Amino acid sequence: MGSQRRVQKFKSTYAVLTFSTLALWGASAQAQQQSPEYVPGEIIVKLKSKSKSMQAQAFIGKAVSEKSMSLKGTWSGLNMHHFALKPGQSVESIVAELKADPEVEYAEPNYILKRQSAGFEGEPMAMSDVRAAASSDYSAFAQTNAPIQASQAWSAASSSATPPVVAVIDTGLDINHDVFVQSGSVWTNPGEIPNNGIDDDRNGYVDDVHGWNFVSNSAAMVDDDGHGTHVSGIVLGATQDITAIPLEPAKIRIMPLKFLDGNGSGSTSDAVKAIYYAVNNGAKVLSNSWGGGGFSNSLLDAIAYAYEKKVVFVAAAGNASSNNDSAPTYPANYAVPNLISVAATTDLDGLASFSNYGSRTVHMGSPGSSIWSTYPNDLYGRASGTSMATPFVSGLAALMVREAPTMNGYQVKQLIFNASVPVSSLSSKTVTKARLNIYNGLMSAKGASVDPSQPEFNAASIRAPSSLADPGAGAIGGCGLVTKMALDASGGGPGGLSGPQKNLAFFALMIVLISPVLLSVAMRQRSGKNQRRYTRYQIDSSVRVKFGDRELVGQVSTISLGGVQLNTDAWLEKGGIVKMSIQSPDGRDQIEVEGKVVWSEEQKRYGVAFANANDTVMSAINRWSQTLLKA
Ligand code: CA
Repeated sequence: MGSQRRVQKFKSTYAVLTFSTLALWGASAQAQQQSPEYVPGEIIVKLKSKSKSMQAQAFIGKAVSEKSMSLKGTWSGLNMHHFALKPGQSVESIVAELKADPEVEYAEPNYILKRQSAGFEGEPMAMSDVRAAASSDYSAFAQTNAPIQASQAWSAASSSATPPVVAVIDTGLDINHDVFVQSGSVWTNPGEIPNNGIDDDRNGYVDDVHGWNFVSNSAAMVDDDGHGTHVSGIVLGATQDITAIPLEPAKIRIMPLKFLDGNGSGSTSDAVKAIYYAVNNGAKVLSNSWGGGGFSNSLLDAIAYAYEKKVVFVAAAGNASSNNDSAPTYPANYAVPNLISVAATTDLDGLASFSNYGSRTVHMGSPGSSIWSTYPNDLYGRASGTSMATPFVSGLAALMVREAPTMNGYQVKQLIFNASVPVSSLSSKTVTKARLNIYNGLMSAKGASVDPSQPEFNAASIRAPSSLADPGAGAIGGCGLVTKMALDASGGGPGGLSGPQKNLAFFALMIVLISPVLLSVAMRQRSGKNQRRYTRYQIDSSVRVKFGDRELVGQVSTISLGGVQLNTDAWLEKGGIVKMSIQSPDGRDQIEVEGKVVWSEEQKRYGVAFANANDTVMSAINRWSQTLLKA
């Protein structure tokens, strides 16, 4: 009875929510075509790092006195500042002016960001009503979970481990919803005493016991939209059965960070604050079901900071049915090595009609069509969007970190890619050509040898001037030149290339994309001691490659005592740890050896350095090499 009443009470609000959601959805799709929206009269400015605080003070003083700007906030330690302009002042002209200032590293508009959901479907209901009224709807939870093998993962997860923290950066969370209360899944800041009006842990936020509300700039955690609660339920739902009432104790913690308002809209300055908050307060996974705006250097820097701190950043690819390779969506398109860009799939493993895609920029698929999850006021509802696909990946990432707490975000990402299942609908639409599998991912984390290293990354290497006139700047983590080369390489632009020219352009593109640091690392690894010290031999043997419990087949083309070159259609990312069973040239024998992917070409040819080649392996290779030609 109580639940019925709640539904009634909620109905009128819900009608408004649905309407505004759809209206926004239309607006955001439209925004793709036009110049990106930004908060009127606000800018973000980063001063060059060599600027000392005295200089920063002088700069701010000058901005205030000469330009009548007012300081809205400062990111301490970053030399980055958020300004409001004098009424009537043009964002474009001030940004242009500041860019010419030798003290300024970058100046940009405060872009508007929006949730990536096409809105709720049908009326939210109580769980009892979900079960009673529509058994088919109730089973929809299971229908979504079956292909991604969620329930297998729940029972395979270690029984006791420290719950990792997932920050859900969104519209907030109904922290009093039964699902989150019963499971005990809402993050509690251990350093903060509730309601004493004191910033006990001195993190800059007073009484931030359950995250922070950047919209109201207070500790009051609410969800006046519904999106954040839905997304959080999916994160939790990837890790346990959220329909089994009472719920089991959660394996993870959700840190709600509200930066999107009741209309699902927020600013880059608040998103950036939320990301720094999440990373600095212990989140290992950041779930980001939102996007929009132009290329923002401050947002890119925040994600790069998360990478530096070994945190995974999962981002929705967007809902405009468009190709992110040519029409970038941010933050999904920032080429930071810890970022996973997620497309939405249907229950039948098709690419959802609304989902963005991109064979170079969208990494993988995950269920995002008519997904059941939690809704404020103890209700449940269905929604579609890359917003819904993203938190499944975030939930898996958290389960993996739970199994291997020292694993960094970069390795988690690689293992998630390797554990995903190829589906034909994604073959030309995503980088991995594959859809999430939670069980495979979990098992690969259990079996993984943790690699503490990750490639060096310098955000400045992919920074683009955030020109208002060019929303496509930095499309694939570069500048206009890169975008053009990408278009040329894919034959999509005027004067498109073909054949060998196309390959050349592709390699040129790759070289432009890789920062000099990364390039030197790659070169060092490729021409490294393993390649140099040992003679390589031509071989044509099959190899079975395992990641966790997933296995694929490829061909070995060269072999040495240091490693192999292998060809396979599956995705292997540099740095990934693989277990190989390599067949002898005569097919009678095989060796088992572990290795690390040290280089790759066109996602097809890979160099794998042996990690634990024992005497048996060494002597087998020596024996085989007597019948092989030198490479
Ligand atoms: Ca605090």
